[in-house]
Amino acid sequence: MRHVIVIGAGIVGTSAAHRLSSAGAKVTIIDRDEPGNGTTSRSFAWVNANQKTPRAYFELNFAGMKEHDALDQELGSAPWLHRTGNLAWSGDALKYDELRRRVERLQAWGYRAEWKNATEVNAELEPRLAFSGATMRIAWFPDESWLDGPLFVRSMLDRAVELGASVRSGQEVADITPSSDEVTVTLSDGQTLTADAVLNCAGPGADKIAKMVGRTLPLDPTRGLLMRVQVEPGTISRLIHSTDVNIRPDGEDHVLVHHDSIDPLIGERDEIPLDNEYCRELCRRARRILPDITGRAITETRVGIRPYPVDHISCIGAVPGIPGYYEAVTHSGVTLGPLLGRLITEEILTGKVDPLLKPFRAERFA
Ligand SMILES: Cc1cc2nc3c(=O)[nH]c(=O)nc-3n(C[C@H](O)[C@H](O)[C@H](O)COP(=O)(O)OP(=O)(O)OC[C@H]3O[C@@H](n4cnc5c(N)ncnc54)[C@H](O)[C@@H]3O)c2cc1C
Repeated sequence: MRHVIVIGAGIVGTSAAHRLSSAGAKVTIIDRDEPGNGTTSRSFAWVNANQKTPRAYFELNFAGMKEHDALDQELGSAPWLHRTGNLAWSGDALKYDELRRRVERLQAWGYRAEWKNATEVNAELEPRLAFSGATMRIAWFPDESWLDGPLFVRSMLDRAVELGASVRSGQEVADITPSSDEVTVTLSDGQTLTADAVLNCAGPGADKIAKMVGRTLPLDPTRGLLMRVQVEPGTISRLIHSTDVNIRPDGEDHVLVHHDSIDPLIGERDEIPLDNEYCRELCRRARRILPDITGRAITETRVGIRPYPVDHISCIGAVPGIPGYYEAVTHSGVTLGPLLGRLITEEILTGKVDPLLKPFRAERFA
């Protein structure tokens, strides 16, 4: 039986651990923190292939969406997946033109994308959204969803453990020594573990793990601010991407608010107080489309670090010259986790590399 050590219990690592265990491998999952407490719980968690280019990256993400559906079918339920669809619009002429071209491109690529007007959206989908005019055109992507990351991680870990996997949380990997017949992993308390293979799913910490095997994995980590706001139940039911703010449900009586334009302003900070100017700005923007939202109802802020490889596409697979060492490091990991977990399992256990992964090989970083 192959023994595989998975470093990192986020969505990518736990997806892989579940698949490896199902395939009969002995699995040890190591995380320096509580499982799921990395980027996976600090993500907008939109399952989509909406703005993904080039074509190969779109196809990977589109396959990632379908893998979520397949997992749901296989397990009989997926309570972590909220199939709400996504509404997107822009009052800014340039951005609207970009959206119009995007919808055309996605339709040509076989992705469901439709147009509705504001009156139809209010009547059929979101009665409480405020638009600047009744004829405003809104793009509707019915197959997109959002995911409860912590619930997904707990569920995959539980399944892996039922299949025999062991979990070591609160233990940091300090060193890795690969050799031709086994890999030795040293934890920060000095304990050592040996296995046939080690899989680096350490998210934004993956470059430090790579360094331990003498490899440079160039990352471009960027921080993002997410704000939870308490609302009346039913305020919105879907993902919303408007001109300058993104909102989605986050449980019964909360929404999660984010926008890319705020992220660069938070710099290197890992914590943002609730009364911070950026939270107030996100609230102002959210209130323009959902008048019920108020700054007094902000209950939590979270800062997440995107584990972008430096070229912003996924970095997956074995690395020539480093026996028994594999990587699965990516942004869009919420969309891609289950798919990458299955494909990296196949590669580790059989050596087969799925054609979808060819443009995203780890070996492109020498
Ligand atoms: C603001 C923001 C918005 C996002 N929005 C989306 C979105 O809408 N859709 C989407 O698909 N993706 C989105 N992403 C990206 C997505 O969240 C990530 O790609 C995904 O969560 C990465 O998961 P992971 O399992 O690779 O990493 P993580 O969840 O970070 O897990 C890595 C784990 O490794 C552990 N670890 C690290 N170093 C060590 C070590 N030395 N020893 C032991 N353990 C270690 C950490 O503790 C952590 O638990 C967003 C990210 C951010 C920040």
